[in-house]
Amino acid sequence: MDKNIGFIGLGIMGRGMTHNLLKAGHAVTVWNRNPARMDEFITAGAKSAASPAAMTAQCDVILICVSDTPDVEQVLFGAQGVSSGVKADALVIDHSTISPHATLEMATRLNSQGVRFLDAPVSGGSEGAAKGILSIMVGGDAEDVERALPILQAYGKTITHVGKQGAGQTAKLVNQILVVINQLAASEALLFAQAGGLDLSKTIEAVKGGAAGSWMLANRGPQMIVRDFRPGFTIDLQQKDLRLVLEAADQLGVPLLATSLVFQMYRTLQAQGLGGEGNHGLVKALEQMMGVELGK
Ligand code: NAP
Repeated sequence: MDKNIGFIGLGIMGRGMTHNLLKAGHAVTVWNRNPARMDEFITAGAKSAASPAAMTAQCDVILICVSDTPDVEQVLFGAQGVSSGVKADALVIDHSTISPHATLEMATRLNSQGVRFLDAPVSGGSEGAAKGILSIMVGGDAEDVERALPILQAYGKTITHVGKQGAGQTAKLVNQILVVINQLAASEALLFAQAGGLDLSKTIEAVKGGAAGSWMLANRGPQMIVRDFRPGFTIDLQQKDLRLVLEAADQLGVPLLATSLVFQMYRTLQAQGLGGEGNHGLVKALEQMMGVELGK
């Protein structure tokens, strides 16, 4: 079993995942671009590395959770990147949500160095990362998935091997289509409930366990009605994912009507400087059209 685990990217998601690795008793080495983010993990018993390349000297498995495709490229192949120090037979697992196409290219480059690779994007939000109950969609070879399982189980509850390298990212894009359309549904439904004079908390309670329930409604609905738009997942990152979805849909020739609409709605919010708010801020685009505010 792999003993030394490296974690790159201690943001909203990486933070919860790394704490759960430590709780499960793994030996963890961390690296984050902004070094101040490493302090709490050193206090909690992790080691720190001076760079992704330096991490490879002491780690058999390297986990990555950074923002976008160029960021994964940077930590893997940039100056002081993982690929410049990594040992053959090390396993790299990318938990970021990035392009399936670029994932395949990066996997091929690493494989040519003898390094194993899995794409393993996650879903479940900051809450899922903190509680260790993420859904993880894994693409790659079965033997690598088996090797990764004891690690992924520290923060994943539903771990599904969906196919070959790149398939994890494609499954994650499916996930994101569902997330934003459920978010639009929750926004529209709660504004309708308010116009109809309903108590919004009671309405969420009444419908969330039935056929209309969704994670977005159950978790973000209560935040929306008290106007708490702090991010579990920012609008800017959500737009990054919708860009990936729409690019892939274009390549596949698949029309995505509602997803395209939501992309444009988020764009109006970004234009107003709201990209750092949570993705449940989508309701604000509808509020502006209606001239009302939810929860007021
Ligand atoms: P976040 O809080 O913004 O954290 C991003 C992390 O990536 C930070 O540690 C940041 O380092 C690092 N980073 C970004 N660009 C980098 C670069 N060029 N080189 C090195 N490090 C870099 O984002 P997050 O919410 O944790 O999301 C991380 C990934 O998980 C994204 O792909 C996102 O789509 C995905 N995801 C997020 C959620 C969610 O609900 N938040 C759910 C599922 C999946 P610094 O600290 O130095 O900025």
